Amino acid sequence: MSEENRSQKSNPLLNSTLMQVERAAARMGLDPGMLKLLQEPKRCLTVSIPIRRDNGTLDIFQGFRVQHNVARGPAKGGIRFHQDATLEEVIALSALMTWKCAVVNIPYGGAKGAIVCNPKELSLAELERLTRRYTMEISLIIGPEKDIPAPDVNTNPQVMAWIMDTYSMQLGYSVPAVVTGKPIELGGSLGRNEATGRGCVYTIEEAAARTGLDLKQATVAVQGFGNAGSVAATYLEDLGCRVIAVSDSRGGILNENGLNLTAVKEFKTRTGTVAGYPEATPLTQEELLSLACDILVPAALENQITAANAGDIRAKIIAEAANGPISADADETLYEKGILVIPDILANAGGVVVSYFEWVQGIQHFFWSQDEVNNQLRQRMVSSFRDVYELAGREHVSLRTAAYMIALERVEKAVSLRGIFV
Ligand code: NAD
Repeated sequence: MSEENRSQKSNPLLNSTLMQVERAAARMGLDPGMLKLLQEPKRCLTVSIPIRRDNGTLDIFQGFRVQHNVARGPAKGGIRFHQDATLEEVIALSALMTWKCAVVNIPYGGAKGAIVCNPKELSLAELERLTRRYTMEISLIIGPEKDIPAPDVNTNPQVMAWIMDTYSMQLGYSVPAVVTGKPIELGGSLGRNEATGRGCVYTIEEAAARTGLDLKQATVAVQGFGNAGSVAATYLEDLGCRVIAVSDSRGGILNENGLNLTAVKEFKTRTGTVAGYPEATPLTQEELLSLACDILVPAALENQITAANAGDIRAKIIAEAANGPISADADETLYEKGILVIPDILANAGGVVVSYFEWVQGIQHFFWSQDEVNNQLRQRMVSSFRDVYELAGREHVSLRTAAYMIALERVEKAVSLRGIFV
């Protein structure tokens, strides 16, 4: 996409993603025509989703499914339910999936989906009707060999089970491989729920080993105590780190001596939030991000560290468990400050790696032990981190630019080998 086209995008995540790709492409001397092709989503589907509310009224929601690039395999990516979701955001997230699958070298392209809704305002029955009708609408383009959804923000194994059931009904037999992140009872993989947080911690261990950071002495702050963030925090605690601050959408908490995460999780289960946890002091999101700590894990939403606050960041390592938490301009500031940023397309790839394992197990009807899943995940994350770290060192670029260079090269190669049908 040209500079002119890019400047027309109003979504900051899309602008940042396009800019990161341009940066890596310039470094590689990628053909401008190929760059244009790789910046454009292949297919964008917008659907309207009518549902009957519990009170009898009819309501219409909007949904999207975007397939960014499928040169290396079926499209793969999560579905989020969020009131602020837009088509441009979903395009950006689908592109991140293309690059993520390529950087960890799994045979998928990128996709993403969303329903514009606030799930907290819907009953369980309404959520089920919304999910099933959305599935009907996107059934045109999803399928185990075409495009395989997974959980993302505000979606979970139950939502995947409804998608699998609705899709299967249309074919007349069960098609578990149409989604990943399913309940174990329906063909889900052991270890999938924890995979994003676990994979993120594997990359942190590698980064710490290379920068001489002793994890047993390290302090950690985690923004977003959801699936990715709470699991990453727990594994870091297991490794001996002191997790001093965590937050969720309702606020943050700080205890310089280290939070007891088991107690924090119990508190959150009881009250729905970490805010107000008694053994800590309250903290704003801004304060959490700028804490003096060794490791910062943004695990909430995009655009949390921008040009406005990048100068305040004091962490030594940032591991992006969330997608796009750092804007492209903030990235430069952090690089100049010598902060090691493990980019999202690498740091949070554990989720899609174990989704791939789930898909493979489902197709073969042969299921692995938890140890096997974790060992394979570790191998994949460690070797991908090593490739990115070594290229960054050779080329004197950030880990993000190096990760994009590896991903772009793999996708470009697949596109070129298949040939462009013009
Ligand atoms: P989740 O819904 O389980 O958790 C999100 C958490 O962030 C919640 O605790 C929420 O309260 C909190 N949050 C929301 N807005 C916040 C704010 N402004 N400040 C602080 N906290 C806030 O979602 P998740 O699955 O953990 O996803 C989190 C991020 O990780 C997203 O960017 C998602 O795309 C990314 N991700 C998730 C997976 C996965 O497998 N779950 C895989 C790859 C990437």
